[in-house]
Amino acid sequence: METNFSEQQLKDNDNKSSERIFRKCVHCGFCNATCPTYNLLGNELDGPRGRIYLIKDMLEKNKPANDKIVKHIDRCLSCYSCMTTCPSGVNYMHLIDHGRNHIEKTYKRPFKDRFIRSFLSSVLTNSFNFRLMLFLSLFAKPFSFFFPEKIKDMINLIPKTLPKKTLSTMKIYKTQNKKKPVARVALLTGCVQKILSPQINEATIRLLNRHNIEVVVPREIGCCGSLNHHLGKTDLANKTFRHNITVWYDEYLKNGLDAIISNTSGCGTTIKDYGFIFRSDQNLKKKAKKISELTKDITEYLDENVKLNFVQRSRNEKKYKIAYHSACSMQHGQKIHKEPINLIKKTGNEVHEIPDGHICCGSAGTYNVLQSDIAKKLLKNKISNIKKIEPQIISTGNIGCITQISQATEIPILHTVEIIDWYTGGPKPKILNNL
Ligand code: SF4
Ligand code: SF4
Repeated sequence: METNFSEQQLKDNDNKSSERIFRKCVHCGFCNATCPTYNLLGNELDGPRGRIYLIKDMLEKNKPANDKIVKHIDRCLSCYSCMTTCPSGVNYMHLIDHGRNHIEKTYKRPFKDRFIRSFLSSVLTNSFNFRLMLFLSLFAKPFSFFFPEKIKDMINLIPKTLPKKTLSTMKIYKTQNKKKPVARVALLTGCVQKILSPQINEATIRLLNRHNIEVVVPREIGCCGSLNHHLGKTDLANKTFRHNITVWYDEYLKNGLDAIISNTSGCGTTIKDYGFIFRSDQNLKKKAKKISELTKDITEYLDENVKLNFVQRSRNEKKYKIAYHSACSMQHGQKIHKEPINLIKKTGNEVHEIPDGHICCGSAGTYNVLQSDIAKKLLKNKISNIKKIEPQIISTGNIGCITQISQATEIPILHTVEIIDWYTGGPKPKILNNL
C-alpha cells in the first residue's frame, strides 16, 4: 500500500512503525473473509482492510477522528482473526492500537460514552472497585430491567454467585516436597479473574507446585494494563505496564524467574507486546523485551517445559466429550492452538474443536458491554456451533470467554488448566459435581 507520510511525521516512532505496516498491505481483502464484523455487517469499513484505510487516512493527514471513523474502529473486536489470515504478515494489532490512541487524543466522545468507558476503566482494572461493584450488582440483578441497556448488559454478565477462594493468598507458593524446585515462575493472577474465578489461579498454582515448580505472585501486580490499552487510554495503560515491568524485572534479577505465567490469554497477548510498546524507551526497552520473552501462556509453558504426571485411571472411568473454545487472543493473538488441545487429549477425554472456531464469541474485553448488539449476535452463533458438538464440558483459556459463553449455556465451562490439574491429582472441579 502506498503511503504519504511527510519526513517530519516519520520522526514520530509510532508513525514510523505504522507506515512500515501499511506498506506490507497489498489490498487483497483476504482478511475480510474471516473478520466477524465484516461477515455480520457486510460493510467494507467494518472489515480490516477498510479500517486500515481509515487509520491510514487519519494518521497521514494528521486529522482528528470523526464520528464515522470512531464508529467503525469501535466496532473492531481486536480479535486478530485478520492477522491469522493475512498472507502479507500485516500487523493489524499495532495499527488498531495506534488508531485507538489517536482517537482518544483527538475525539471527544458523547458524555454517556465517556462515562461508561471511564467506569469500566476504573472498576475492572482495580480488584477492590471490582469487588465492590460485584457486591452492589448482586442486589441490582433482580431489577436490571430498570437500567439503561448498557448497564443492564453489564449487570447480566455478572454471575449470580461467586466461588470462594480455597487457597490462602501468599507471595511465594513453595513446591510440595522438600526437593529443590526445577523451576521458578511468576504468575499473573489478574484483576477480574481472581475475583470471578479464583479456582483458575488455584488450579494453576497447585498444578505447578505438584510438578516441583515454585510460584511467586508479586503482591504489587494486579492488572496487566490490557483493558485500558484497548480502550485507547494509553497513559493509564503505560503507567500499569511500567509498574509491572519494573516489579517483574526486579524479581527476575534478585531471585530468578524462568517464566511469567499468564492463564488469561487476553492478558498474555498484551504482556508479550510490552517489548514492542516500549521499543523506543531507553530506560525500559531492555527490561520490557525480557518480560515479553519470559511470558508464556500456562498451556504453552506446560506443553514446552513440564512432563505432566497424569493419574492412572481405571478403564471404566467415565470419559467426557469436551468442546475446546479457542479464545481469539490465544489462537490469533499468541498463535497458541494445538498446545491446549494436545494437553486435554492426554487426559483421555474426547476433544472437539468448535465449527467456525476462528470466529470470536463476542467477549473481547469490554466489547460485550460497549458493542453489546454485535456481541450478542456473535454469542448466539458461537452457542449454535457449540451445540452441534453436543459436549458435556466446554474448555477454554480466557476468563472473558468463560463469562461471555456461560451467559447463554448451562454446559459447564472450565479453564483448560482446571482440567489438567484434575487429571494430574487435583480435585474434580465443583462445577462438574452433577456430571
Ligand atoms: S481484529 Fe477482528 S474484528 Fe477487528 S478487523 Fe481484524 S478480524 Fe475484524
Ligand atoms: S489480507 Fe493482509 S494484505 Fe490483504 S488486505 Fe488484508 S491486511 Fe492487507
